[in-house]
Amino acid sequence: MSETFTALMIEDEGGKPKASFRQMGIGDLPDHDVLVEVHYSTLNYKDGLAVSGKGRIARRLPMVAGIDIAGIVKESRSPDWKPGDKVVVNGWGLSETEWGGYARYQRLKPEWLTRLPDGFDLVEAMAIGTAGYTAALCVDALEDWGQIRPGSGEVLVTGAAGGVGSTAIALLAARGYAVTAATGRPETHDYLRSLGASAFVDRAVLAEKGAPLQKERWSGAVDTVGSQTLATVLSQARYGAAVTACGLAGGADLPATVLPHILRSVALLGIDSVMAPHAKRERAWARLARDLDRDALRAISRVEPMSLLPDLAGQIVAGQIRGRVVIDVS
Ligand code: NDP
Repeated sequence: MSETFTALMIEDEGGKPKASFRQMGIGDLPDHDVLVEVHYSTLNYKDGLAVSGKGRIARRLPMVAGIDIAGIVKESRSPDWKPGDKVVVNGWGLSETEWGGYARYQRLKPEWLTRLPDGFDLVEAMAIGTAGYTAALCVDALEDWGQIRPGSGEVLVTGAAGGVGSTAIALLAARGYAVTAATGRPETHDYLRSLGASAFVDRAVLAEKGAPLQKERWSGAVDTVGSQTLATVLSQARYGAAVTACGLAGGADLPATVLPHILRSVALLGIDSVMAPHAKRERAWARLARDLDRDALRAISRVEPMSLLPDLAGQIVAGQIRGRVVIDVS
C-alpha cells in the first residue's frame, strides 16, 4: 500500500514533548504482525496529558499518540487475525512505548487486539474506550470484594462528569446501586441524574482535609481523583467497604492514614487498565455489553475530528470535557 495519511506525533522539541500533525506512509509504521485500519480513537485524560505536553506519557520519541483504537484488520501475519476482523485495542503501552491510535493505519502485535465485542459498533466501542472499560474494571473489582451488593448503601463516584466517572455511574445504576456523584460542576447534575446518579456531593468538600475517621457513609466508591479526595473517601467509608483507585485527576499523592483499613476493614483496590490480562478485559467488556444502556452511551459521548485534538487535549486536562470524546481518524 502506498497510501499516505495524517498522524498526530509527539516529538522532542528542545527537550520537551511537542505534538504536531505529520504525514506518513505504511512503511513508516513499526514492524508488528497485524496492520489495522484505524477508524476511531478516543480522548482520555492520559491522551490530554500527552498531546498538551502537560505530562510525559511517551517514554520514547517520536511517538504516535492515542491509547485507544477501534478499526478493521487489513493485513495479518498472525493466524489469530484475518483481513476484515473488527478489533479494539485499549492500552498495552500505546502512546507510551508503542505507537497508538491517532493515525489512519497502525501495525500492532496480535496479542494486543480484542475482537469487537458483540453488540457494539466501532463508534460505540470508542464511546466506551479506555475510560469506560476502566469503569467496568472498577465495578468488577467492587463486586469481587464480596461485601457490596445493590441495596447495601450508597456508592460514591468521584470525577463524576468525566469519562470514567460517567460510565461508572451508568454501570452501577444499571445494577441497582444507589449512586452518589461527586462533581465540581453543578451544571452537570441533570446529565449525571440521567445516567443514574441519585445524590450529589460537591467535590470541594471532599478535597478538604478532615479527620482520618469520619462519619461512615459509603458502602463502596469508584475514585478517579486521588490525593486528598481519595483520603477523604477512605475516611468516610463504611465498615467493610471497598474503594477502587484508578485515577489522579486531582493529584498523585495520597495523604491518608491506615485507620480506615485497620479499624473498619476498608479495602483500597488498585485498578490498572493498561496491562490488564485478557480475562479481565473480556469480563469488563461483557459487563459493558450487558449493562450499559445505549441511550446512556449516546448521552455520554460525542464524535470529533482528529484536527481538533490539540484543543480538546487542553480542555480535558483543564477538567472541561463532559463524558467521552470519540476521535474520528478517517
Ligand atoms: P476526565 O478528564 O474525563 O475526568 C476527570 C474528572 O475528574 C473531571 O471531569 C472532573 O470531574 C474531575 N477533576 C478534574 N480535575 C480535578 C481536580 N483537580 N480535583 C478534583 N476533581 C477533578 O478523565 P478520565 O475520566 O478519562 O480519567 C479519570 C482519571 O482516571 C484520570 O486521572 C486518568 O488518568 C485515570 N485513568 C486511569 C486508568 C488506569 O488504567 N488506571 C485508565 C483510565 C483513566 P467533575 O467535573 O465531575 O468534578
